[in-house]
Amino acid sequence: MGCSRPECSKSCCKKWAKDNALLLATVAGVVIGIVMGIAMREANLSKLDIKYFAFPGDLLLRMLKMIIVPLIVCSLITGVACLDKEASGRLGLRTIAYYMGTTFIAVVLGIVLVVSIQPGRFGTDGAVRQSSSLDVEPVDAILDLIRNAFPENIVEACFNKIKSVRVPITETRNATKYYAINSTESDNGTASPLTTIGWLEEEVTVDYKLAIESKSGVNVLGLIVFCLTFGVIIGRMGEDGRILVKFFVAANEAVMKMVYVIIWYSPVGIAFLIASKIMDMDRPEEVLGQLGLYMATVIAGLFIHGFIFLPIIYFVIVRKNPIRYIFGASQALLTALATASSSATLPVTIKCLEEKNGVDKRVVRLVLPVGATINMDGTALYEAVAAIFIAQSTGITLNFGQIVVVSITATAASIGAAGVPQAGLVTLLIVMSAVGLPSDGIELILAIDWLLDRFRTTINVLGDSIGAGVVAHLSRYDLLEDSNDKTNHGGRDFGDIEPTITSKQGADNAGFDDTVI
Ligand code: ASP
Repeated sequence: MGCSRPECSKSCCKKWAKDNALLLATVAGVVIGIVMGIAMREANLSKLDIKYFAFPGDLLLRMLKMIIVPLIVCSLITGVACLDKEASGRLGLRTIAYYMGTTFIAVVLGIVLVVSIQPGRFGTDGAVRQSSSLDVEPVDAILDLIRNAFPENIVEACFNKIKSVRVPITETRNATKYYAINSTESDNGTASPLTTIGWLEEEVTVDYKLAIESKSGVNVLGLIVFCLTFGVIIGRMGEDGRILVKFFVAANEAVMKMVYVIIWYSPVGIAFLIASKIMDMDRPEEVLGQLGLYMATVIAGLFIHGFIFLPIIYFVIVRKNPIRYIFGASQALLTALATASSSATLPVTIKCLEEKNGVDKRVVRLVLPVGATINMDGTALYEAVAAIFIAQSTGITLNFGQIVVVSITATAASIGAAGVPQAGLVTLLIVMSAVGLPSDGIELILAIDWLLDRFRTTINVLGDSIGAGVVAHLSRYDLLEDSNDKTNHGGRDFGDIEPTITSKQGADNAGFDDTVI
């Protein structure tokens, strides 16, 4: 029975504040960042001064990025190496089904909203230059995705990925006949006209060649493919692979301890990241006024998807309180808001789900790194809304078939987008080119993309987090069997990574607070 004495509620509050000290500090960081940013705008600092001012925030980003590669490598390898073949296969299928399903729901929601609200018919004057040059060909983008999944050099994949570029092969041709009329002087001094005929030369593109270029940035997809394969193999090597698995389990624990240190610094970094971004905004009133309805459509879609649809899915499948679950992940959501990068937020997301929500480590370490790379509900929704908004504001009416193409390409483009700031803006070009929209229509939405990026990244991270909870619940009996097999048959037991669940009751709770780890 609860105690109603004031001293009891006081000690309860104290305990709550102590348990959630980091979250409170992060919320304070966000609020201080907003207030500081608005106040410092009056100081009219130069771009250079703002960059110096942002230094503590830059440090946070650098620390988070520093930890991404070791974290992805160790967590994926231990994730699959410690599960048996059937369990990891079923877990993988559930994860992919959840990711594809929720991303598609997000895209459809975005399309319904943008088609019914029609933000492109207001605000902008439709003054976009028509252009024929498209920077991204959908087929090349999809092939690049597959190429990146199989990096030539695994070391290079830690800092470079590839991008193919179509280089035109041109020929000079006589394209246009011309007539020139000159005057020539005759012997008797009178001028008579002389007509000459010639050809104007023109550079004509006759073909393209494909150049594969390296571009800086972690090739997360390549690392995922390599680590999953490596993890599966060493997990099945029996005694011979045991030492390797133990090594990665220990390395993973060490990396998570480093994450812990970084996270304690995050409230400071978050305050400076937010403040400097607010100080850096150019003419916010004007931009927000022009694009207000478009922003409202994107934000409404993100809100409905993240805080209504996903919690309903969680509740229906897991039968637990989604609000409590989202609260447990709130530190990660605030970090996503501040960094605009799901990859940089990954360490915090893993920590929240394991420690606050008690989700099974085996699921978290598999589902989250993959989700941070390929599951982006917010980005998919945003790309569908943005492409149709650009069509509306340039006076192009998309037919039903083209809208279906938008929904499919937005889903694919969100899979291809990296978990870094404004990656969605680049992959939006794929969606636009698939339905023949001019690529420079993107200029319309550039000014506020940085802001929408933060909101969509938050929903991306929320989608991954709820996905981990759902997959952990759906896989509870597989995980139980996996644990029991190892206990009964002296199977692959690799230290403290596996939860000990010994009853059906335990399986029902698997992945959540009651799990004994
Ligand atoms: N910034 C987003 C993320 O990291 C990707 C995007 O630009 O939509 O999840």
